[in-house]
Formats: sequence, structure tokens, C-alpha cells
Amino acid sequence: MVFHGPGDLRREELPVPAPGPGEVVLRIEAALTCGTDVKTLRRGHPVMIPVIPTVFGHEFAGTVTAVGAGVRHVREGDRLAAANSAPCGECPPCLAGRPNLCEDLLFVNGAYGEYIALPARLVAKNVVPLSPALPAARAAFAEPLACALLGVERGRVESGQTVVVFGHGPLGCLLGMVAAARKARVLIVGKDGWRLGRVRGLGIGECLDATQSANVVADIRDMTGGRGADVAIDATGRPEIWEQAVDAVGRGGSVVFFGGCAPGTSIRLETRRTHYEELALLGAFHHTPELIRRAVELVESGALVPDGLISHRMALEDVRRALDMMAKGDALKVLIEP
Ligand SMILES: [Zn+2]
Ligand SMILES: [Zn+2]
Repeated sequence: MVFHGPGDLRREELPVPAPGPGEVVLRIEAALTCGTDVKTLRRGHPVMIPVIPTVFGHEFAGTVTAVGAGVRHVREGDRLAAANSAPCGECPPCLAGRPNLCEDLLFVNGAYGEYIALPARLVAKNVVPLSPALPAARAAFAEPLACALLGVERGRVESGQTVVVFGHGPLGCLLGMVAAARKARVLIVGKDGWRLGRVRGLGIGECLDATQSANVVADIRDMTGGRGADVAIDATGRPEIWEQAVDAVGRGGSVVFFGGCAPGTSIRLETRRTHYEELALLGAFHHTPELIRRAVELVESGALVPDGLISHRMALEDVRRALDMMAKGDALKVLIEP
């Protein structure tokens, strides 16, 4: 599936790529749809897709069918999960141990295809071998799960804390699952409908229906003995919800801005509370090679089972329909099996 610009996704027959030096070709076993793809299809993506046309999709796992010259640690027949980016390792943020903020992050697309060529830098830094028994559909969660791990890490979530997640899409759910795995109490704020019902059924945490609430922040305070949450994470990318997230934490609380808002937007911040209650306001962006590895470990060990977030399975030619369903809130994640 090739992205030719906003609204223009085409099915094309392309030759199976041949690996250059340091590269690896993967036969895709499983790809997952993502809200980012929905957004990108609507309006393009200056960072993830700097040039068009390009192959599309970024969450995947598969089996190596060919390796390029100089590749030592990966062999034909290996099963791999791969991140959708690789940091340079040399810029100031990389050297400071924050590779998610790399000044030269190399993005990789092409999950919605039968084969994908992984560039040398990605092969060197951000692929993880899988055990033969791990279903590819689970391994394909490595990328979004690593993002969720970063968000929960930023919030320094600890056992026994109350974590409120705003947004009940796949990433809101993954954030809730990671926080629950850390033995936190999880509240998920969503909007009534098919998806919230489904999320409720998954038992990730207590669900709060914002459409049935006169005051979401007051309800969260009621549910936390009047004190407010220890950690609030926004996974909606809406400025008004960022403000709710700040209002929802108690003294000493942490607020994680996980969902990216539209360019040019801003929020109102109560300075007095922020200072005297020592609120920690934290951005969270993307993932790191270490967290991609940890994400694979979590699904390999069964400590986190993301299967319930896959609401539909479809073939490659149905990607467009899958993304339309995501856009309408009629799907959580769609598993694409080429
Ligand atoms: Zn994604
Ligand atoms: Zn870098």
C-alpha cells in the first residue's frame, strides 16, 4: 500500500526489495493499524513521511528472507520485531541517553506490504529477535507498547498509585495495561460507544464515561477520596483534555502529555497550584531502542497480553477500509495479515 499524499493510498505491485549492505528484508507476518496512520492519511506527516510517494504502515513483525552484506547478528529465517525508527547515536540528545529525541531520527514505513526492506541503521540498532512460539500479531505491538512504556516511565508510576488515563483508544489502553502491570489502580476516561464498551470488557481498569459526567475532574476526585490522581496521562491529543489532566492530579501529582495536539494550540495553566502543589508536567514522545526490547520481553513473557486490543483481522487490500473504521471509532486495532 503506497501513500501518495493526503487521502491517496494505492495498492501497487512492487518488486520484492533486495537488501543493500547492512540491510535486511522481512516477510511481514503481521501489521497493525495505528491512529497515527489515520492522521497521516488525512493530512500527511512531516516527520514520519518526509517524502512521497512512500510505502505505508509502521507496526509490524515478520521473518527474515534475505540479509545484506555485512549483517552478522541476523540470519535468514529469524523472526523479528522492529521499531519504526532508529536514532543516530551521535547527536547531543542521543549522547545524553534520550534517543527518542534524536535530532536525526530515521523513520521506516512499509508495514502494509508483503515484504519490507529494513535500512542498515534500523537493523543495527532497533530490531529484536522473537522466539518461534510468539505470535507475530503480539510481536507487532512492540512499537506502540514501547511508546506506552515511555509514557508510564515519565510519570514514574509506582505500585499502589492511582493513574488516570484520558482516552480509550489503543494507546490509552496500552498505557492503562502498563500501569496496571506496575500494580497501579487504573481509571480510563473515555466516551460512550462501541469502543468504550469493548475496553470495559477487557478489564484494564475502571472506566469513566465522560459523556455521562457533568464534571469529569470532580468525578475523579470523588473516586480518589477527594485527593485527585497520583498520575494523569493524556492520550487524546486535545488541549482541553490536557487541562483536565492537570486538574485531575492531586498534590505532588505528575501529568504526562502523551497525545500530541494540533500545531499552534496552547493550554491554560494555574501557576499557583503548579508551584505550591509541586506538579510535575512532562512531555512523552516516541520510544527508545531499550524500550522496544522491553516491550518484546513483556509480550514474550506473557506479563502483558495485548490480544484484546485487536478488534478485527483483514487482508492487505482492506487497509483503507481498516483505517476508515479506526477513524470512525469502529475498530481498536486491525490486524493486517498479508
Ligand atoms: Zn503506531
Ligand atoms: Zn541522535
